[in-house]
Amino acid sequence: MDTGLTVTHPLTGEEVPVWVANYVLMSYGSGAVMAVPAHDERDYEFAVKYDLPIKQVINTPEGYFDELKADAKANDSEVNLAYTERNTLVNSGEFDGLDFEQAFEAMLAKLEPKELAKKKIQYRLRDWGVSRQRYWGCPIPMINCEHCGTVPVEEQDLPVVLPTDVVPDGRGNPLKNIPEFVNTTCPKCGNPAERETDTFDTFVESSWYYARFC
Ligand SMILES: [Zn+2]
Repeated sequence: MDTGLTVTHPLTGEEVPVWVANYVLMSYGSGAVMAVPAHDERDYEFAVKYDLPIKQVINTPEGYFDELKADAKANDSEVNLAYTERNTLVNSGEFDGLDFEQAFEAMLAKLEPKELAKKKIQYRLRDWGVSRQRYWGCPIPMINCEHCGTVPVEEQDLPVVLPTDVVPDGRGNPLKNIPEFVNTTCPKCGNPAERETDTFDTFVESSWYYARFC
């Protein structure tokens, strides 16, 4: 639905119409999306349906559109002319001819002083804290030695098996109170050392479901 509102394009100063639509992009949450119908398949379909202008701003390889149209004709399917690959810019004024990286930096340089943009790296998963202070879960096969630090359990001693006679008393990790489990020797220097009592969290286990089903 066309809201009748417009916003100002931060680079060109053009007035751009604001539409509301019934699809959601998780990464945007409740924010506004700048549609680029020539280079996004959904935006392309939206623009065609509502008769909005489709302006190509990324160059396509020679004959790209002809091939797409021929394919669509051969398969009797709808043609989606959105070009979603990276290439040099066209119809973009001062940014024409720049490749993806160059255009990224050039636009950032324009927008940053106006406080309209900020360079940011987004992570889906960064450091992954997989240890838990509890009994259940896969033991982390590490030994903490006063002299050598954290030492992996030798391969022939794997797997580290949890004791089965544990009675959780609701106070912390019960593994800590089982000397037969905790006390061991360092595989590197042979001195007394302590077994890691944290266990892996459920993400680790659920990452291996496929193996169980096999
Ligand atoms: Zn050691």
